[in-house]
Amino acid sequence: MTSVNLAERIKAAALRLNYEKCGLIRLSEMDEYADKVRQRLDRFSDGRPVLEPVLEAAGIRERFPWAKSVIICTRRYDNYKMPPTLNGRFSKYYLFDARRNQRARDYQDGLAFEQFLRDSSLRFAGGERGDLVMPGNRWAAMKAGLGVLRRNNFFYTENGSWLFLESWLIDRELELKEESKAKPCPKNCVKCLTACPTNALPESYVFDLTSCVSYLTRRGGWDLTADSRASSIGQWLYGCDVCQDVCPLNQRPWVGKDDFPGAAELAVIAAPEDIVRMGYEDLKLELFKRFWSIPEDKLWKWKINALNAMKNDFDDQYRPAVEAALNDEAEPVRHMARWVLRSEGRQR
Ligand code: SF4
Ligand code: SF4
Repeated sequence: MTSVNLAERIKAAALRLNYEKCGLIRLSEMDEYADKVRQRLDRFSDGRPVLEPVLEAAGIRERFPWAKSVIICTRRYDNYKMPPTLNGRFSKYYLFDARRNQRARDYQDGLAFEQFLRDSSLRFAGGERGDLVMPGNRWAAMKAGLGVLRRNNFFYTENGSWLFLESWLIDRELELKEESKAKPCPKNCVKCLTACPTNALPESYVFDLTSCVSYLTRRGGWDLTADSRASSIGQWLYGCDVCQDVCPLNQRPWVGKDDFPGAAELAVIAAPEDIVRMGYEDLKLELFKRFWSIPEDKLWKWKINALNAMKNDFDDQYRPAVEAALNDEAEPVRHMARWVLRSEGRQR
């Protein structure tokens, strides 16, 4: 089979399995990516703990000497119904994240695509269901012409930014690109920059990772009593969608016809006051299994986020839950609860 035919067959298999787009680029096109990460590190040194492992992972050639090309696919998640009570609290990306959800069609489609690669005698690494983290998916997608990076730093196809990106290294030199149909950002639009609650987008195409609500609710923000951005986090418990929600290039109606496995059940148990009252075993069972960026040994962070959300829109109905948190087994939670009650003048 010629390289062109094989590349076309790979793309056809991906589209059959409900990926939105699929392209292939030569591995050499990823070389600039590490430079981009270094530039970001130079500007935002606070991001070192997160970006250095990315940089290390970007050394793909050393880790996978057999790799010759990258398959990059996009997959839309705006087909899933958003439970109203989770909207504005959980980012849609993480809510509809199928990487560890075997019941999700996306997970099974990914497995079927990998079986296709195997059946085609291709050696591969990557995908989203294992432990291997492939860096630079946005970069690869841009290089393959699947879409554009916008001023909010998200990757968009012509259908918007509600996308998962998934990539695989393969051991054949293949290339299949397209010409992006995504329009550029309107000339004077800065809606995403001005809407960002924590000024994590100080300029177009510039992203301060450690100021982002998504970082502060998942990988940082351990002591929000000492963080001036606590009130800007608003109601978010895990992630943030603001700069995508306000974007005029995302303003197609949310399609939302399909149930994502587990989303409706989560809506019943994940109000902030429920999270604060949850035992740590339940936090592990109900939240850690779906949202693993908050590590298992810091599950109390969920309660910090929930207490912060309550503080940011305090209502007397929250008082019993906050007072219960004064006796939580984790000191950071007790400390946060004292702070919430003190700052609201509600400590008894
Ligand atoms: S996800 Fe939220 S906090 Fe992060 S850059 Fe976008 S608007 Fe700002
Ligand atoms: S809000 Fe405006 S500037 Fe920001 S990504 Fe969307 S179109 Fe571009």
